[in-house]
Amino acid sequence: MDTLINLLYIAASVLFIYGLKMLGRADTARRGNLVSAVGMLLAVVATLLVGGLNFTWIVVGVLLGAAIGAVAAYRVQMTAMPEMVALFNGSGGLASLLIGWAEYHDGTSTLAGTPAFTAVAIFLAVLVGGVAFTGSIVAFGKLSERLPGRPILFKNQHLYNAGLAALVVVLGVLFTLTPDTPVGYLLFLLAVAASLVLGVTLTIPIGGADMPIVIALLNAYSGIAASAAGFILGNNVLIVAGSLVGASGLILTSIMCKAMNRSLANVLFGGFGASVGGGAAASGVQGDAKPITAEDAYFMLEAASSVLVVPGYGMAVAQAQHVVKELADLLSENGAEVRYAVHPVAGRMPGHMNVLLAEANVPYESLVEPEDVNPTMDTVDIVIVIGANDVVNPAAREDPGSPLYGMPIINVDEARSVFVLKRSMASGFSGVENPLFFKENTRMLFGDAKASLSQLVSEFKDALRDAA
Ligand code: NAP
Repeated sequence: MDTLINLLYIAASVLFIYGLKMLGRADTARRGNLVSAVGMLLAVVATLLVGGLNFTWIVVGVLLGAAIGAVAAYRVQMTAMPEMVALFNGSGGLASLLIGWAEYHDGTSTLAGTPAFTAVAIFLAVLVGGVAFTGSIVAFGKLSERLPGRPILFKNQHLYNAGLAALVVVLGVLFTLTPDTPVGYLLFLLAVAASLVLGVTLTIPIGGADMPIVIALLNAYSGIAASAAGFILGNNVLIVAGSLVGASGLILTSIMCKAMNRSLANVLFGGFGASVGGGAAASGVQGDAKPITAEDAYFMLEAASSVLVVPGYGMAVAQAQHVVKELADLLSENGAEVRYAVHPVAGRMPGHMNVLLAEANVPYESLVEPEDVNPTMDTVDIVIVIGANDVVNPAAREDPGSPLYGMPIINVDEARSVFVLKRSMASGFSGVENPLFFKENTRMLFGDAKASLSQLVSEFKDALRDAA
């Protein structure tokens, strides 16, 4: 039976790896998800073949988990997906913490090797799982705006965090030396408490545009914790799946750091955005924004031969992706070249915009990388910025005093004309004012993005009807 289980685990691991690879491209992503899900089914079935399981509790767990998952999947709005993903990350971390705790409590700590080896694995599962759990809850709060998105800072924060991290390491070393004693149990409980507190204190000082990096890192933590849980249980597929999540989370963290042009240490210890709140005057943003009507915007678009669409979080809120595609098709029929530039941190989760555009069947080939389009931005007739703000903020390039300074952006202000579709003059997620709105070549098309785009589509269709 052991051989069969391990063969099934190998098959599941292969499916995970293929699934992950397929998730890397928009056109194969759906199938990649399915392939990974089949892998997970195999892994679950194989695990149920392990002898000596108590099926009553497993059935209770499956029913409870499936019910919560099904209700959440049906009820959650598309715009709330990022915070749901944060909760999933947190649940993974909590599960690993509980596995570590249960196995320690059970006293069967020689399952996967020497007691010291298992004690280290238990400690890591609890520590990393605990940090991932409470850190993800804070990320959930920030993304859902139940907590302020700006950094929450207090005096001597770095000193406090460094002290807490050092305490956790000392607790870990002492615990692994004395796991079987009452003192060991006390140390263990202290480590659980410290890891939960550390998750909160490490995440609250991070805010503004740096959240994507933290989310990717928390994702990696939940994978590392799962892998440690795999070592505790001696479960090969959990070790592999945890490592895959951990490694892909770390790769994503590094991609996000590059996209933001920041080092991880700078994000974790920099207190990003502490100076946010100075408002327009403090950041040197002044002037009058120039509104435009949909009718006037249509006349300019009608004459354009090169159009760039830059989507942001507001496109997700407005669910405007389908009408964007409709407008792009009309523009193409009118002879314009239409391309889409997606910033790596646009929206509220990695790949957010790509998922929405793929849902609206925007061809993959129409997408251009920001670094490819930026050098030729002055040849673009019109950029349509749809609910994007931070990712097109020129202060990141021009204002050394701005908290966004140094972050690569899409240089839409260098195009011939820019239409910004949003509801008000409000700032984006980082809370930083945007001088783009006051530039000479910018026109503000105020209103819900879907409504504004629908008006533009109607203008085009009316003109086509009149011409026919
Ligand atoms: P953003 O800077 O958050 O700006 C979104 C804009 O959309 C807002 O200014 C808002 O202005 C507008 N908006 C909202 N609802 C709208 C609607 N129905 N119709 C039209 N406009 C609407 O978005 P972004 O440029 O995409 O930048 C993403 C930000 O989130 C970055 O700071 C990034 O670091 C952060 N973040 C990203 C991730 C990730 O993984 N991608 C994760 C966490 C945080 P109005 O209210 O005036 O309409």
